[in-house]
Amino acid sequence: MAMWNPWRGCHRYSEGCKFCYIHKGDAKRGMDTGAIVKLDGFDAPVRKTKKGEYKMKPGQTVYVCFSTDFFIGEADEWRKECWEMMRERPDLHFLFLTKRIERFWNCIPDDWGDGYENVTIGCTVENQARADERLSFFKTLPIRHKNIICQPLIERIDIRKYLDGVELVVVGGESDRNARPLDYEWVLAVREQCISAGVHFEFRQCGTHFIKDGREYTLNVRELGSQARKAGIDC
Ligand code: SF4
Repeated sequence: MAMWNPWRGCHRYSEGCKFCYIHKGDAKRGMDTGAIVKLDGFDAPVRKTKKGEYKMKPGQTVYVCFSTDFFIGEADEWRKECWEMMRERPDLHFLFLTKRIERFWNCIPDDWGDGYENVTIGCTVENQARADERLSFFKTLPIRHKNIICQPLIERIDIRKYLDGVELVVVGGESDRNARPLDYEWVLAVREQCISAGVHFEFRQCGTHFIKDGREYTLNVRELGSQARKAGIDC
């Protein structure tokens, strides 16, 4: 596994951005998240050693833009080079998530066709309104590998009609002292929808405020992932 952050910075975009961890981290460091800035590691996938070998070892999944949104408008010019680097590295698998899936046709390269085999796109949704708006469009798009990311999930959702062709659905709660609660019933409901559609499901993290059997628990940020794994409901 490798990380690739060609640029950083983002703007809050929808309800799920309320407690964005990038904004919180930047606020602590006194940085302006709203400044979209190209980073030193921009060309990381194609950097080579003195021997002429790629520094990024083949066979890995590369997580792209986890401190921004790959489809953010300010990066339109830079993104073209990113696609070229992904084309140059068919031995790596690139994965990015976006809340801006409606920008898809403005953002893909000319030779995209029915998608690059080595790219997975995850469409992020947080409630039923965003699921209906984004997933009805996502469903129509030529993408070889599609994931749906319901994190932070802030209400019960029904995504059954959007699961065709999706490889994985991830569900997770919100992390913050003032986070909106995650009800375990909502997690199980999405899991049932995935099982019926034959789609892989992963419960990635509980919320800071987590409701189970009608009782609300407050969890430490460090245990959000481990508590979700303990549930043992991935399939
Ligand atoms: S789109 Fe993602 S990175 Fe950007 S503000 Fe929202 S949560 Fe943060």
